[in-house]
Amino acid sequence: MAKEPDADALVIRNVEFLGGMAETTGWRPDSSLPEIAFAGRSNVGKSSLLNSLIRRKSFARVSRTPGRTREINFFRINNQYVLVDLPGYGYARISKVKKAEWRPLIESYLRRTTQLRGIVLLLDIRREPSDDDRAMLDFLAEVEVPTIVALTKMDKLGKIAAQVQVAGISRTLALQPDQVIPFSAVTGEGRIELAEAMMQLVEARPEIASE
Ligand code: GDP
Repeated sequence: MAKEPDADALVIRNVEFLGGMAETTGWRPDSSLPEIAFAGRSNVGKSSLLNSLIRRKSFARVSRTPGRTREINFFRINNQYVLVDLPGYGYARISKVKKAEWRPLIESYLRRTTQLRGIVLLLDIRREPSDDDRAMLDFLAEVEVPTIVALTKMDKLGKIAAQVQVAGISRTLALQPDQVIPFSAVTGEGRIELAEAMMQLVEARPEIASE
């Protein structure tokens, strides 16, 4: 029987850790593959979402390595695209100085990359978007990066409450309905939708800047 084409989006054959970018002017991989980046405040469920999406022990191992959590980590997937794991922002338990560090690093990556096709921004479905979340969305709009918003931990709400939150957050942040994907790493809900949306970004033709 013919394979569902959509199912292909989820087949991860190969994951290779390329390295981490730790400073604004520091190393980043020299790659011509499309990049998709993942961002969100600490504790939003980014590691859980990425582990659910990628399902590779090697991936989970790197993302748990101490010291890597404040770097931008690059993973080549299926030799087709590069997944960019941006550091979680707004971590309350670290000092104010450390807290502010994420911004120049993330902004520097976003300004320097020529390969970025889109960002998946993670927001907790139960929470009001924070000032940091809004600042990130504003910045993404400014640099004109296509953005998908994944609303994490949807299993923590009932169906109706989840719908109310999806509508409320979409309205507050002026998001289009097809930009917003509710997700749960516990039940796997939203995983296929997210993988499909991500692959659409990977496969989208970049706009050629007019000279
Ligand atoms: P990160 O800091 O953004 O990487 O967040 P983690 O993935 O480490 O998750 C933070 C906490 O939220 C952990 O205790 C996770 O078990 C929990 N968590 C993450 N995703 C989900 C989810 O989809 N459902 C539920 N119920 N808990 C989640």
